[in-house]
Amino acid sequence: MAEQKAKTALVVSAHSADFVWRAGGAIALYARRGYRVLIVCLSYGERGESAKLWKQPGMTMEAVKKARHAEAEQAAAILGGETMFLDAGDYPLRATPELLTLLAGIYQDLQPEFVLSHSLEDPYNFDHPLATHLAQEARIVAQAHGFRGADKIIGAPPVFLFEPHQTEQCNWKPQVLLDITEVWDIKRQAFESMGAQEHLWEYYTRVGLQRGVQAKRNSNRTATKYAEGYQRVFPHVTDHLS
Ligand SMILES: [Zn+2]
Repeated sequence: MAEQKAKTALVVSAHSADFVWRAGGAIALYARRGYRVLIVCLSYGERGESAKLWKQPGMTMEAVKKARHAEAEQAAAILGGETMFLDAGDYPLRATPELLTLLAGIYQDLQPEFVLSHSLEDPYNFDHPLATHLAQEARIVAQAHGFRGADKIIGAPPVFLFEPHQTEQCNWKPQVLLDITEVWDIKRQAFESMGAQEHLWEYYTRVGLQRGVQAKRNSNRTATKYAEGYQRVFPHVTDHLS
């Protein structure tokens, strides 16, 4: 008998820190539940999201990437996730056929139960929707029988879009509120390992609290304090409505 494999989840993050702020709670929650959570960082955010590092005298691209790699690995380890860095470049990130094929192969090897990525729109950041586009297209390629053979195809893992920085401008709506109260301390600890973006620690704590209040208001979960919002791409399939 083959050993029972752990269930898996896939996070597609445009830059190496995006997953921490936006999906850290889901990663910690599912890692705690025994899932293997693979976080694919398409780039390090080396140009666009490393301003504090670039202010240091004599900074180089290699040193920025190295620092961002180390920070993201540390944050993922705190959350209980596993990282994979594709170093595809940022500002601009570009979708090459090779990157798409690589990502589709990751889907087939991992066979994720669900997928997390960015909002479909973001007028402030072109890399974020592009990462989602890649994640979506790779999912479809991985469903194709002719890609690497019929026995490797994936099913239809639901895709959840995590909260962008300025939600209204991105036409993003919180259709799912995930209660992350039990792992909040872990998420906050992961924030604090991201030294290059200290300005975001309090901001995303407020976001967690805000969504927590809304989660409470939309349920009977009286103990909920923190939540993460997600928008769905595909219909929720169920045989019960309560
Ligand atoms: Zn980003």
